[in-house]
Amino acid sequence: MDRAAQIVSEEEMARQREYIAEIRDLPQKPRTFYVVTYGCQMNAHDSEKLTGMLTEMGIEPAEERDQADFVIFNTCCVRENAERKALGNVTWLKEIRKRNPSLIIAVCGCMIQEPGMAEKILQQYKFINLAFGTSNLHRFPELMYRTLNTDQNTVVVEDRDLIPEGLPIVRARREAAYLTIMYGCNNYCSYCIVPYVRGRERSRSPEHILHEAEGLLKSGVKEIMLLGQNVNSYGLDLEHPFSFASLLKQLDAMGIPRIRFMTSHPKDLSDELTETMAACRHVLPQFHLPVQSGSDRILALMNRRYSRAQYLDRVRKLREAVPGIGLSTDIIVGFPGETEEDFQDSMSLVNEVRYDSAFTFIYSPRVGTRAAAMENQIRPQVATERIQRLIALQEGLQQETLKRFVGMEEEVLIEGLSRRSSEEISGKGLHGVSITMQGKREEIGRIIRCRVTGVKNNTLTGVRE
Ligand code: SAM
Ligand code: SF4
Repeated sequence: MDRAAQIVSEEEMARQREYIAEIRDLPQKPRTFYVVTYGCQMNAHDSEKLTGMLTEMGIEPAEERDQADFVIFNTCCVRENAERKALGNVTWLKEIRKRNPSLIIAVCGCMIQEPGMAEKILQQYKFINLAFGTSNLHRFPELMYRTLNTDQNTVVVEDRDLIPEGLPIVRARREAAYLTIMYGCNNYCSYCIVPYVRGRERSRSPEHILHEAEGLLKSGVKEIMLLGQNVNSYGLDLEHPFSFASLLKQLDAMGIPRIRFMTSHPKDLSDELTETMAACRHVLPQFHLPVQSGSDRILALMNRRYSRAQYLDRVRKLREAVPGIGLSTDIIVGFPGETEEDFQDSMSLVNEVRYDSAFTFIYSPRVGTRAAAMENQIRPQVATERIQRLIALQEGLQQETLKRFVGMEEEVLIEGLSRRSSEEISGKGLHGVSITMQGKREEIGRIIRCRVTGVKNNTLTGVRE
């Protein structure tokens, strides 16, 4: 495969930098910006790139959305409610424009990449000044320049799956950083729209990743979260294939204090990766392994390409290799044709695995996916009732599984003040579980050792050592 063809050319990136410089000198450029982010970590990281580009344009971040002159919505379309929420909020901003006629409204991200969405925006959402898809993120400076110099709406959606290198990034947190290792997804799970809106899998070169990681380490970052829709298949598309496990080993050797990653597809979780998890000092003992369903019949309909037994076998190996590993998952209920028996298979799997946390979703039909065209769509009341039972089960189990940490020492990377009290701080322990303890705002960003004292509201409490 020709890697050079997949990376956005240096000339193109230089052209975009010229647009940034032009915008900096434009008298009509907005003074302040606000980025609204929906969806996953990938989107959160894309927003950090938007913030990086906007900052280089000389536009300042606004404290509040309603005070900004430029508002950009970075959207998600994985489930219908995310999409509805984004469009609802964009429409609400139309009211704000009555107070601030120079307000520029932009929408980008996965939703714009959906088939038919660009036309819909042009026809029904004429007040949106600028819309572009995920494939055009690196062209944001050019599109912004165009928007600032015309009265016409700018709507651009391309399907070219390129890798942009060298975009400016302003990270939301100084101590913990997202680092994209690959884009896109090839799996075509039958319910999922991601492969249609994020394109084919393409891995960044190990050199680019290691270079970025080195820069982060030098800047004092304590934790790196490697991002990809399926990090386990990282590197298979490279001209010189390079496994995810090899990448982890190299990052580990660099001495980054904490390394995490998401997401893993169970079918691609190799023994090599499991062994690497055990061998690497800095790769944290935690694993997010979405199962989606405990029923073999539904897993096949979902096109997940593993069975319940294979999944359980991988969990067993992970636990043998890394005793006490923190495990989390994603589960969908109400997939087309899911019977009560299938649902009970998901319940029994949850009972068997005993996750430290589970993200549960009601199946949401996405136009263009195979599952949306399947017969036997489940009635919303049935799906809602099932998810309630699943959540109740998981919460009860979680209360028990988390007790294994009580009395243990943990190292917590402090993320912020706790929601309950300004005298308390909280962050994630090594196993990926949130831990709250007494502390002050100044300690945000530090790693603090503590002893776990209890389980409260499905998270942990601790006292410092
Ligand atoms: N690539 C990751 C993976 O395979 O686990 C995650 C991608 S997706 C953004 C995150 C989660 O959303 C999935 O694990 C799945 O549980 C859920 N999801 C995706 N499509 C969905 C749909 N149509 N309805 C409900 N949940 C969905
Ligand atoms: Fe969607 Fe499946 Fe790809 Fe995850 S692996 S992004 S669920 S298609």
